[in-house]
Amino acid sequence: MPQLKDGEEFICDSGCGTIQPEQYDFEYSREVLPDGSVISKTEKAWRAPCCKAGVLVYSNREETSTRLDDYAAPATSIRDERLSAGARS
Ligand SMILES: [Zn+2]
Repeated sequence: MPQLKDGEEFICDSGCGTIQPEQYDFEYSREVLPDGSVISKTEKAWRAPCCKAGVLVYSNREETSTRLDDYAAPATSIRDERLSAGARS
């Protein structure tokens, strides 16, 4: 989980207040090839556990909120995985 500075907290983008973000595999690309094989591209992302909305970082000092995506680098690098190899001729 990204480190927050003093006076900052995670909040739900839908307005639920302070939350603890949960990590999940966000699939940003999914391609089904004619031969039936699937190419799934996922990356680790954070969401609010209450309503699966985005996570904001709220600063009590500056009274600003920043999208978590813009606040910190992704927790892990992007994974490009070919789930099943397709036969190519
Ligand atoms: Zn919420």
